[in-house]
Amino acid sequence: MIYLDNNATTRPDPAVVAAMLPYYETHWGNPSSLHRFGREVRQAVDRAREAVAALVGARRASEIIFTSSGTEANNTAIRGICMAQPQRRHIVTTQVEHSSVLNCCRALEQEGYAVSYLPVDREGRVALADVATAIRADTAVVALMWANNETGVCFPIAEVAACCAQRGVYLHTDAVQAAGKIPIAVQEIGAASLAISAHKFHGAKGVGALYLQRGTPFRPCLVGGGQEYGRRSGTENVAQIVGMGVAAELAATAAQQQVVHIARLRDQLEKGLLEALPQSLVNGAQAPRVPNTTNLSFANVDGEGLILALSDAGLAASTGSACSQGATEPSHVLRAMHLAPEHLRGTLRLSLCRDTTPELITEALAIITRVVRERWARSH
Ligand code: PLP
Repeated sequence: MIYLDNNATTRPDPAVVAAMLPYYETHWGNPSSLHRFGREVRQAVDRAREAVAALVGARRASEIIFTSSGTEANNTAIRGICMAQPQRRHIVTTQVEHSSVLNCCRALEQEGYAVSYLPVDREGRVALADVATAIRADTAVVALMWANNETGVCFPIAEVAACCAQRGVYLHTDAVQAAGKIPIAVQEIGAASLAISAHKFHGAKGVGALYLQRGTPFRPCLVGGGQEYGRRSGTENVAQIVGMGVAAELAATAAQQQVVHIARLRDQLEKGLLEALPQSLVNGAQAPRVPNTTNLSFANVDGEGLILALSDAGLAASTGSACSQGATEPSHVLRAMHLAPEHLRGTLRLSLCRDTTPELITEALAIITRVVRERWARSH
């Protein structure tokens, strides 16, 4: 089985699994304990915090808060920043965010907040002028993703951060699909907060992190024992956090070479498919994208049927977003990009990782070409 669904999740690196195991078997202390069991474990959590801080370019490790997921990091940031500025009741975001941001904003709307959902163009790009125009005197936070999970399209986060700074507004960015794929320098660009998730860069599922720049107004969502510098209570998920630290180190060291290698394979796959399958197109091809993702539309093909047929043929891929699977609605991202109706349903997301080889790409190309042609032949 060829796995090209790395935006849904990645295979935990064997080094990550090996690093985690002792924290289940022998080093099972509570990091808040003062005795040796606790101290050893605290040191391991602190090392992981340093590694995550380095991956995202944070100046201080204390600006990293471990969470249970990217979803929790997004909710914690948006809610926490809003709740700390009660006089500000407006949020700016986009129509193409991940559901963990969109549904958090919708919930806040129910609680009396006003939310501006900015549109994107045909290539999935947001206009900087729209961000600037949407910001109001009572805007509490601007929440824009760094890279889109479905198309890989990157928003101009550095420019958005500069615009927010100029207007005195805090920027939260969902970098779940950017971390480990492209270099991130959060301190340099000046975002107030940033969310990442370990299982998107070969860590374990169920652990994420929130970067929260020192001085950002914030009210914790989870209160209790005051762990994570009082910003996220609950005994730390030590093994997973240790694994996330190792995954972050691996991602940071491999990042530069990977970008070129993975982009070359992705481009080869795209080119091959466009040549072999007329009436197909790449969504967001003209926009800056993370190197591992391609999102294609095939005219008059049913996306879900295509995924099942590809799975039978030995290829794991995705249509739309894996997080919203089970839903028969076409993707909200592609709808916001105004795809033609005949292209909206037949979408295929292929996402590569550092383990993807040229041989796998050649094989995937052959499988997809054959399966799509079969489906076209059947529908005529
Ligand atoms: N944000 C983006 C862009 C994502 O792609 C995902 C997961 O697919 C998340 C947030 C949520 O992360 P997690 O699965 O850790 O909750």
